[in-house]
Amino acid sequence: MSKSGTPLIEVRGLKVYFPVRKGLFGKKGIVKAVDGVDLKIFEGDIITLVGESGCGKTTLGKTIAGLLKPTEGSILFKGKDVSKLSKKEYSEYRRSIQIVHQDPYASLNPTKTVFQILSYPLIKWGLARRGSELEERVRELLTLVGLTPPEEFMRKYPHQLSGGQRQRVAIARAISVHPRLIVADEPITMIDVSLRLGILDLMLDLRKKIGTSYLFITHDFGAARYFSAKGGGRVAVMYLGKIIEMGPAEEVIQNPLHPYTKALIEAVPVPDPTISKKKRMPKLRSLDIPSPLNPPSGCKFHTRCIHYMEICSKKEPPLIEAKPGHYVACWLYEGRG
Ligand code: SF4
Repeated sequence: MSKSGTPLIEVRGLKVYFPVRKGLFGKKGIVKAVDGVDLKIFEGDIITLVGESGCGKTTLGKTIAGLLKPTEGSILFKGKDVSKLSKKEYSEYRRSIQIVHQDPYASLNPTKTVFQILSYPLIKWGLARRGSELEERVRELLTLVGLTPPEEFMRKYPHQLSGGQRQRVAIARAISVHPRLIVADEPITMIDVSLRLGILDLMLDLRKKIGTSYLFITHDFGAARYFSAKGGGRVAVMYLGKIIEMGPAEEVIQNPLHPYTKALIEAVPVPDPTISKKKRMPKLRSLDIPSPLNPPSGCKFHTRCIHYMEICSKKEPPLIEAKPGHYVACWLYEGRG
């Protein structure tokens, strides 16, 4: 994984805001879903983006994939601002960044067979000619994602498949166009628990076979831990629209710096009941996540943080490099950057 040179994707000062109305006739407000994010994704990278529901991780993923427009800031694809790309370059960007959605039940057209679903992008992007070439390519894709024998699945409709099989079809569709980055947005959340690790293993296996990068988005630190332990890469932790900690996966998981990351890790359930009994409840001043419509001043975590200091509610801590390659936004580490 090269960390030098031009990143595949660079996110600079990204803000994505949504206007909303509080209540039916209430006042208009603004949800700052992403509120100033900087991130570089290189070829072959694995980034696990973790945080609670509503922290902005899905919005960040969708904006990187070109499905949402930034309110402020920019996305660069191979060093060029996406908003300034030519039609041909924009088309390459959209093909290069594919998204696998959380809900495999909604993301596949129920009126099309698996063959039709997988044929569409191949024809659209001119990657296979109709006839035997197309059939062969669909067969290859189904085999790659473990749906074998492929003939058994090609003529089926999504409702004839299990959740895990549908997500495998969604992954096959994503890799069909040779993407450089797959944004996997909570890809295992709606799948039966027993099938979840199989999907994560498949994603990592495909990375070896086709060399794609991943932005793996999850609210589940257990899944983040599994994915990063096997795949390596970096972990980025998001809280109310900001990345508050980022670093090499093993380092962030073994030696978390931010009080929020420490609480997330403490909250991961452990299958062994003796260890589980010894585990403490995460230490937080409050379990309530503040509303993104009215986020706290200064450090957005200060209403829940047990290390709260006076400065925390007054001034927002910058993301600093507290250890080599390990970044944190917290006043406890002031002076280490
Ligand atoms: Fe806690 Fe303050 Fe650090 Fe925020 S800046 S995480 S409130 S110690």
